Amino acid sequence: MAPRKDVGTSSNLEDPTNHSSPYFVHPSDGPSSVTISPVLDGSNYHSWARSMCRALGGKMKFDFVDGSISPILDEFDPLFRAWNRCNMLVHSWIVNFVSPSIAQSIVFTENACDVWVDLKERFAQGDLVRIFELMQEIYSLQQDSKSVTTFYYELKILWEELEICMPIPNCTCRVRYSCEFMRNARRNHTLLYAIRFLTGLNENFGMVKSQILLMDPLPSINKIFSMILQYERQHNVSPAIDDSALINVVDSKKFKGNNFVANPNSKDPILRVLHMFAPFVEGAITLL
Ligand SMILES: [Zn+2]
Repeated sequence: MAPRKDVGTSSNLEDPTNHSSPYFVHPSDGPSSVTISPVLDGSNYHSWARSMCRALGGKMKFDFVDGSISPILDEFDPLFRAWNRCNMLVHSWIVNFVSPSIAQSIVFTENACDVWVDLKERFAQGDLVRIFELMQEIYSLQQDSKSVTTFYYELKILWEELEICMPIPNCTCRVRYSCEFMRNARRNHTLLYAIRFLTGLNENFGMVKSQILLMDPLPSINKIFSMILQYERQHNVSPAIDDSALINVVDSKKFKGNNFVANPNSKDPILRVLHMFAPFVEGAITLL
């Protein structure tokens, strides 16, 4: 008989009628009671696994795939029926949210736990290519002609995807993140994020960048973004634009059909104003 997993200090956690037990199945829980989007297609393992962990956790069934509850293979074991039911349910949830070709490859594997391990072994490594691409994109991203807000959100989207592909490891402390190791790991992670944001900003933020980097402790990334935004507004900082950029104001009646050279040093006040506002009217203008 397989070793029994200790699901809790109290034996009533093995009672399938106890609502706190992982063996408890709510009457509304069926093969279609979980929704994951998008399905696993082989190239999105980490984001899929994260969504699946949340869904299984919400149903108190994650223990069936992470090895916390060992398979019960003895049909005379009092828990066999309860375990078997949960295993089938979790198995069907996983099969429902993978692509048809992946589903074909796991449909005959009996234990949900084996399916989970199999998918991880097959697809978790594939994301290394995506991690490589993300790192390249993150470290080459610059503000240039973008507003601070646009630059920040472009970086944030890439950074959050990288965090999904390469999550910060969890510690096993009773209170998560309470130990010095985790505090340091998270602090370093935030530091890298903040430095990447600050170093991607244009030269005209040099003063405020240095002030922020001298702050101890370094504020959160949201606070740093807010400080930069404030500085941008107070000092009327306009994003960098190549002086030779031509702006074709397509929709403006006044400028219809004309091309303008947007130049911050132009004698023409309209061209100076156009230069300042160019990034905010994307779509209405065409930069050539
Ligand atoms: Zn810890």
